[in-house]
Amino acid sequence: MSTASASIELDRLRMNQVQDLLNLGFRWMKFPAALENEFLSQDPQQRLRHFIISGLISLVVYDGFLVADYLLIPDVFSIAVQLRLLIFTPVALLALLVLWLKGDKPLTQHPVLLDSAVVISGLFAAATLAYALSITRSPLSDFYHAGFAVVVMYGNLVQRLRFWSALGFSLAVLAIQVVGIWVLPNFNPRLVWPICSLTAATVAFSLCANYVMERDKRRRYLLSERERELVKALSEVNLKLQQLSRVDVLTGLFNRRHFQEYLQDLWQRAKHGGTEVAIIMMDVDYFKPYNDHYGHPAGDECLRQVASVMQNSLRKPGDMVARYGGEEFIAVLPDTSLALALQAAERLRNAVESMAMAHGASPTLPVVTVSLGVACCNAAMPGATPDSLISRADRALYDAKHQGRNRVCSI
Ligand code: GH3
Ligand code: MG
Ligand code: MG
Repeated sequence: MSTASASIELDRLRMNQVQDLLNLGFRWMKFPAALENEFLSQDPQQRLRHFIISGLISLVVYDGFLVADYLLIPDVFSIAVQLRLLIFTPVALLALLVLWLKGDKPLTQHPVLLDSAVVISGLFAAATLAYALSITRSPLSDFYHAGFAVVVMYGNLVQRLRFWSALGFSLAVLAIQVVGIWVLPNFNPRLVWPICSLTAATVAFSLCANYVMERDKRRRYLLSERERELVKALSEVNLKLQQLSRVDVLTGLFNRRHFQEYLQDLWQRAKHGGTEVAIIMMDVDYFKPYNDHYGHPAGDECLRQVASVMQNSLRKPGDMVARYGGEEFIAVLPDTSLALALQAAERLRNAVESMAMAHGASPTLPVVTVSLGVACCNAAMPGATPDSLISRADRALYDAKHQGRNRVCSI
């Protein structure tokens, strides 16, 4: 299988995979490995920006809880200040700064980097809260256990951990809270259920929201992938159609329409530069008898051979050969004098004759030959047009036919 068709096959498989996921869904929040990797490493810049902005906002909120520390656990306020302002805040700021300076490259290499950072920072916040609550003697501290719900929201909704990470993170925070309450000798038993159920409800609701957000994000990703593949397929087909519309199917040369467009462009440039343009018209001699003698398929093959000889004989940059119709071909040679164009035409005539392709029905020679008409003019000359140049070359071709064929004539 060629590389091109292998890549088309891969694209097709991928497209089917994307479509299946869109149709059947992805309940377990996971795509097949290759697609999952691409999904995780998409938009690293945007994810980094979200992480840094949400991180800074969360840090302000986290430090804002110093007010609650002061009101609810005043006896350990100085420890809370140290934990929040001297340990957590500088470490978090440093981590955010390093990530910002490193840019999105590490994220492409380690797609789970940000989730890990969120989990670590969230668990640290939960652990420091649990620690402060374990050493305080304040009678109001029991209410402060509700603070774990805020940590859950940070991971699941603010930083939008991926669902499975969010689930693990939530359970870990819940566990820290439950164990924290468990080990406290004086925790008010009437508050155990309300406080724990508050966090559990926050976990449940935020996980639901997190699931829906991730499902929508994955769906958007699949849709955009499908669109990208469709656009790609469409532009490939478009390109192919464009190429087909310019090429003659039988000979592979450019067709008359494309030749005319090309000549128009070339003419404008030649007119601007005041340069000469030469046209060579060619016609296979006694081609009707050839067809009658050898059959139409052999005639087609003969045209292919003649076309390929001409293509190979005119190779100067800007030269172009096209199939003009039936067994007629045309060539344009930019910036070429009549003398040089005559030389090129003679080379073509000789090349076709040298093919020595048998032509048992030709009165000229027992091989396939062509007659050629050459015309040349300066494009800047008053009244000169591409059409008039082509008609002159055509008239020269007519002369070549009348003078006995297998020859070059010019006007
Ligand atoms: P002359 O030497 O004066 O050019 O004579 P001729 O027989 O070549 O010219 P004429 O115009 O009488 O015949 C051209 C023939 O070319 C007629 C047509 O059937 C044949 N022809 C045109 N296009 C094709 C093609 O695509 N394939 C084949 N096999 N024949 C074609
Ligand atoms: Mg003809
Ligand atoms: Mg002919």
